[in-house]
Amino acid sequence: MYIDIHTHKPSQKTAETIAVKSLWQDFGIADASCYSSIGFHPWHLDNWPKDMELLERYGDDECVVAIGECGLDRICQTDFAVQIQSFEAQIALAVRVNKPLIIHCVRAWDEVFRMLKNVAVPVVFHGFNKGPAVLEQICAMGYYVSFGSALLNPESNARKHFPFVPMHRIFLETDIAEVTIETLYAEAANLRNCKVEDVILQLETNFHTVFRK
Ligand SMILES: [Zn+2]
Repeated sequence: MYIDIHTHKPSQKTAETIAVKSLWQDFGIADASCYSSIGFHPWHLDNWPKDMELLERYGDDECVVAIGECGLDRICQTDFAVQIQSFEAQIALAVRVNKPLIIHCVRAWDEVFRMLKNVAVPVVFHGFNKGPAVLEQICAMGYYVSFGSALLNPESNARKHFPFVPMHRIFLETDIAEVTIETLYAEAANLRNCKVEDVILQLETNFHTVFRK
């Protein structure tokens, strides 16, 4: 089974793939035919805190498997203090519904690590493309990293450091990229010098551990 843990594209559960569709608005239309993660993206906080009640209500749904993507982004236009308030509320929700957090983090690693300290639910940093220092901290704290289309870019940090991340900490995702999850699995196997089947088996285990599905 191929597992795409973070996508914004319409996707259906098939015999060969599981996709977690990420919604940053219209939380009420989380599609029961596929898994969803719901949360306020730091780029799009116009409906926060207005729609927090909706997020609270649907966060408990069976088809909602994670809260996010949420987090902090130092280079977007959204007021940083507002981002912190929204992120704090979403961490609290994830803890209440006991579901993992999918994190968007841009140049705010110290703040994000501080806010996640002592949070008991699993944490996945999505779209990872940073160097070994951040990676080491993520793994040391028992968090997870999800790699996307940056794996295909010969110049990227993601591609350079992917072979050294422990396999039990890894996920793959298509996010908004025009790439298939199968292509990312093939590249992951190539970079690890292993079989696609090995990646499939390990990521299934990781998915069960983190998302309990
Ligand atoms: Zn995304």
